[in-house]
Amino acid sequence: MGFESLTEKLSAAFKKLKNKGKLTPADIKEAMREVKLALLGADVNIKVVKEFVARVSERAVGIEVLESLTPAQQVIKIVNEELCQMMGGSVSKIKVSSSPPTIVMMTGLQGAGKTTQTGKLAGLYKKQNKRPLLVACDVYRPAAIKQLQVVGEQVGVPVFAGEQGESPVSIAKRAVEHAKRHGNDFVFLDTAGRLHIDEVLIEELKNIKQAVNPTEILLVVDAMTGQDAVNAAAAFNEAIGIDGILLTKMDGDTRGGAALSVKHVTGKPIKFIGVGEKLSDIEEFHPDRMASRILG
Ligand code: GDP
Repeated sequence: MGFESLTEKLSAAFKKLKNKGKLTPADIKEAMREVKLALLGADVNIKVVKEFVARVSERAVGIEVLESLTPAQQVIKIVNEELCQMMGGSVSKIKVSSSPPTIVMMTGLQGAGKTTQTGKLAGLYKKQNKRPLLVACDVYRPAAIKQLQVVGEQVGVPVFAGEQGESPVSIAKRAVEHAKRHGNDFVFLDTAGRLHIDEVLIEELKNIKQAVNPTEILLVVDAMTGQDAVNAAAAFNEAIGIDGILLTKMDGDTRGGAALSVKHVTGKPIKFIGVGEKLSDIEEFHPDRMASRILG
């Protein structure tokens, strides 16, 4: 998960500010032009880039020469703070229901990594001494049910699967009842994905949402698809209303565009990131750590 190119370009932009006693508006303008190009090169959404550069410029123009920090260091500090803000500012946790179980509905397009991440997430909660239940709501691909059962076994979390021919809505409802009876405090619904967002998919997700009133709807998107991931997130949010994002395949993403844009574009925070194929490769998303990592 190194955004080397972005880190390098940003560092080149700041280098020119070093050794300057005081920054002129022209110095800042030049540095911001380079920052802008660096972010666009990283596939960050253009609107996000423009607002970001405007905010940093506004703050940078007013900086005073301090004893503790050089002007260049102050600009870097502002960029760090604004990058962090752009990604949501602080850690966003998933909501927990006051009357268990907490129902987490996992959604996403096929191939984003939804089934794997659903299993990983349940494993994470199990490690925190919770009693999660995984639910196979993707009834269209028998392989998806099997896949969830395999991950469930690996992380030691039971999997609830429906009867032959049972609808996803019915499975979800019965799973919640099952969880209540068996003391499962977290229910993770692995819903069906498709290659594209279409009416049928959205209709089904809406029906499940209405039937079980999930505490949290998480959308799984693939970081490596950059702005396509951002667009998918915006479309899902508009259609069904999501609470947060799980950004997968951060380990393979070398640009950072999705991570940097998705919160600002959709208004919904990244809550977790997938950082590899192993079942332990899931982390809570920390905007501050990501900003520092980007700045190198
Ligand atoms: P789904 O169709 O959305 O349910 O996707 P899957 O869960 O089947 O995952 C698709 C592929 O992505 C699988 O090969 C996963 O191992 C892989 N994958 C999922 N998350 C990650 C991740 O964070 N990093 C990497 N490198 N691969 C991942």
